[in-house]
Amino acid sequence: RSKDEGGGQHYTYEPALHAHAEERRRLEFSLRRALERNEFSLNFQPVVDAESEAIVSFEALLRWNSEEHGFVSPAKFIPLSEDTRLIVPIGEWVLREACKEAARWPGHVRVAVNVSGEQLLEPNFAASVVGALSMSRLQASRLELEVTESIFVRDAAQARAALEQVMALGCGVALDDFGTGYSSLGYLRKLRFSNIKVDRSFVQGAATGNPESLAIIRAVVAMADSLEMSTTAEGVEDERELATVRSLGCKKVQGYYFGRPMPAPDARRLFDERQRRKEANAA
Ligand code: C2E
Ligand code: MG
Ligand code: MG
Ligand code: MG
Repeated sequence: RSKDEGGGQHYTYEPALHAHAEERRRLEFSLRRALERNEFSLNFQPVVDAESEAIVSFEALLRWNSEEHGFVSPAKFIPLSEDTRLIVPIGEWVLREACKEAARWPGHVRVAVNVSGEQLLEPNFAASVVGALSMSRLQASRLELEVTESIFVRDAAQARAALEQVMALGCGVALDDFGTGYSSLGYLRKLRFSNIKVDRSFVQGAATGNPESLAIIRAVVAMADSLEMSTTAEGVEDERELATVRSLGCKKVQGYYFGRPMPAPDARRLFDERQRRKEANAA
């Protein structure tokens, strides 16, 4: 829009802002129909033991293939579904699907499910976990919920109460993307997390010799060890990053080096292959 239409200088920015809001509105419109249209699916990414490289769990990662927009990145639709509270029904779907899939895996393999603050603060949250477990007949100890530090910003007491409820059921709770949020160590004293996931940015930094990243991973591992929490290095992409996080004492490793997020049948096959190889080696 040009100035001679009578607008001031701020009009120069309007088309871009408008396009952004318009795209959001269209995405939201589609997102509201995505569940009933069956447009969601889960991918599963393996997490391996840092020493043995055996698969210990898979993280369930949500994918949206929209009729109107094609594949939309979680970085886009997760925040939108949080803002609109659509994450509550979507998150319940993720929980049910992930538990249903995990019930088909060997008994020692766990499943990790990401949980947003909006979802955790719903009064029904623990009930939806109980529902997903009983429908799938999955043992509570095989489900680990991943939360980020941001859940403690809005209503720390309520977040803590919700996590205590699911911990009492026997579920694990992991702190995701550790070190990237509004870190306050206070809640580590009050809650027994099963796992701390060290964000990929530190893994990358440490592998390239960044002294701050190295020091932070060392400190997190030492703290987790003494609090009897496990540690997972996120986003390990190559041998050098693997060697680094191993030498720093991370207990588990996740990243493209061991496997990308993949559809459920591929995850099952991957596990079967490894199992066969192990049996062949033992024989
Ligand atoms: P997150 O929970 O930290 O998940 C790890 C992200 O890192 C995933 O991105 C995964 O694909 C990616 N990743 C894994 N290994 C590597 C690697 O070696 N290198 C690099 N560069 N990236 C790697 P994705 O699937 O795009 O998900 C992004 C975020 O969206 C997740 O981060 C999580 O916060 C959120 N999210 C995904 N699924 C769900 C869900 O079902 N519910 C909720 N509330 N959030 C979800
Ligand atoms: Mg996660
Ligand atoms: Mg993460
Ligand atoms: Mg991360």
